[in-house]
This record gives sequence, structure tokens and C-alpha cells, in this order.
Amino acid sequence: MTKDNINNIKELLSTPKKIVIVPHKNPDGDAIGSTLALYHYLKLLNHDAVVIAPNDYPDFLKWIPGEGTIVKYDSQEEESNVLIEKADIIFTLDFNALHRAGNMEHDLKHSEAIKIMIDHHQQPDDYALYIYSDVKMSSTCEMVYNFIEMLNDVDKINAEIATCLYVGIMTDTGSFRFKSTTSATHKIIGDLIDKGADNSQIHNNIYDTNSYNRLQLLGQSLSNLKVLPEYNTAYITLSQDELNHFDYKKGDTEGVVNYALSLKGIVFAVIFIENQKENIIKMSLRSKGDFSVNEFSRLHFSGGGHNNAAGGKSDLNLKDTVDRFISILPSYKNTLNHE
Ligand code: 5GP
Ligand code: MN
Repeated sequence: MTKDNINNIKELLSTPKKIVIVPHKNPDGDAIGSTLALYHYLKLLNHDAVVIAPNDYPDFLKWIPGEGTIVKYDSQEEESNVLIEKADIIFTLDFNALHRAGNMEHDLKHSEAIKIMIDHHQQPDDYALYIYSDVKMSSTCEMVYNFIEMLNDVDKINAEIATCLYVGIMTDTGSFRFKSTTSATHKIIGDLIDKGADNSQIHNNIYDTNSYNRLQLLGQSLSNLKVLPEYNTAYITLSQDELNHFDYKKGDTEGVVNYALSLKGIVFAVIFIENQKENIIKMSLRSKGDFSVNEFSRLHFSGGGHNNAAGGKSDLNLKDTVDRFISILPSYKNTLNHE
């Protein structure tokens, strides 16, 4: 983002505006944390701001300050349409292409509001007038901190904003362990704690609020784990029947794929989750080192994301999807064996 861009945005925000802030579909900790942090900040500047999420998100995010104000597009469509139509500015956070906003794509595309993108995914589309895109960033929350800093307003970050930003940086870095975690990330985290983020409580709220069923579903996932040593690859499947059996709730499978990646020597891990309602197999792909799951998923499974963490989907059934996945691996054998 250039100095000119920042000056223009500063000018734009110098008088009260109607502002809509949008995270991606199936929002995660970074999507909800970044949009709510920006929401609190814009409210402090006297704007009429609202977060509209394409759909619902996991219960373990339903305590973040301001969470109760989020409008959900899929269940509050009329209200959302009016808000989007009247908006002067639309911020899109934590996604790189309008189709990632699910059902909101059409409304967003046709809105005449000034669009501002803040995002760290690869291959950003150019639908926004102002684009702050940096694939090296750990999280969109780290970028929202930088954005507030560019506007010379770090002093305005209060405990609510700090808490929201801490959540997204923590969840998108796997609790500060992924390669994207830099000394700058840690400095920001330190500042957020100084400004009132209760780090221990936040960890507890996100990671230590499991239901019994969720842990049992994890047990099922681990029983279903398969290893393909030839390709340093491991995968997990979950059928709709298994999900139903453990009373699956949104978010229950978050992080499960990381167990496959934690196996010694494994550099590529995938979880295949059957979604009968959408009639797709939803995939989460993870890697270690230089093997790009973003590229792999873009090429073979209509998805994308980051080099080491991506999502994708398949229209085949669970078994055929896995068979197809395994049939693709030989062409990556060399890469997967050179990590
Ligand atoms: P997850 O596997 O946790 O759902 O997603 C991993 C990363 O890939 C996240 O940054 C997420 O935003 C992105 N992602 C997930 N699903 C998709 C998808 O279908 N398409 C694209 N382009 N990105 C995705
Ligand atoms: Mn993110």
C-alpha cells in the first residue's frame, strides 16, 4: 500500500462513513478477529461500521469482543442487502477473490462502494480500489495492526482491539509456530499484551473449550489416518455418517489435519470431509517445506490458500476423491521426496 493510498484512505476516514466489513465464507479465527478489530477501530473513529459474515462460524469464536454484532448474510439476507447497498466503503478481509465470500459475491461485485482489501493469500484479484496484500504476512490480523499503524493510530488500540488481533495472529500461526511467524509478529503480540490482550485466557477460550463429542470425533479421525510412505504423505477421511455419529458442529474438525502432518517424515497431509448438504468433499491441505499445497489445490481441487496451508473441494464421492488424489501423487513423487 503506497503513501498516497494511505493518505487517500486517511482523508476518506476523516468524516463519518457507512462501512461494511466482510470476512471469507466459513470464517476462521483470523477472519473474525481481523474484521472485529477493524470494526472496533472504525467505531472509535465515529464511523457507522458493521461486520457481515457470509455464514456462521465455530462456537469457540463466539466470545470475541463485538461478536454479537456480526450480521450473518445467509440467515439475514435482507438486512445485509440494505447495509451493502448503503455502504460508502466495503473492507474485504482475509480473502483474495470475491467468490471466497460465498453467497455475498454478487452483492459485493455490484456494489458501488469504495472497496479496500486487506489480505495475505496468494494471487489476489484486483476488485478493490485499495489493496493491501502481502503473502509473507502471518495473518490478516497482523496486517490490520500494520494498517492502524500506517494511519498513525497505534495509540488507539484498546483491550478489545488487542484481543481480536491476538486471536487471529495466534490461530493463523498455529500458536506462533509456523514459518510465517517473524520477530515483527512477536513484537506486535508483545504490544497487544501490553494493550490488554489476556493471552492465557484467549488460549483457553479457543483451545480448551472442546466438547466430549469433538474429542471422540478426533479419535475417529486418528483411527482413519492412512500413511503413504512412498510419497511422505498422510491423509484422513471423515464420512458424513461419522460426522453425524459424533454430532458434528462447525469447527469440530479444525486443526485435525495437523495430526497427520505431525507424523515423523510426513511433508504432505490432507483431510477429506464429506459434506452431504453441499454435495462436495471439502479438503484441507497442509505441507512442510517447499511443497506448495496452494498450487496443488488450485491445479487439481478448485482451491487455493497459502504455500503450506490450503483448502479445496471435489464433486466426486469420498472414495473416488481419495482414489483420484492418490492417482495424482506419482507426478509429485520427486518433489515430495526432496523435502
Ligand atoms: P482450511 O484448510 O483451514 O479451511 O484453509 C486453509 C487456508 O486455505 C486458509 O487460508 C483458507 O482461507 C484457504 N482456503 C480454504 N478453502 C479454500 C478454497 O476453497 N479456495 C481457496 N482459494 N482458498 C481456500
Ligand atoms: Mn488468515
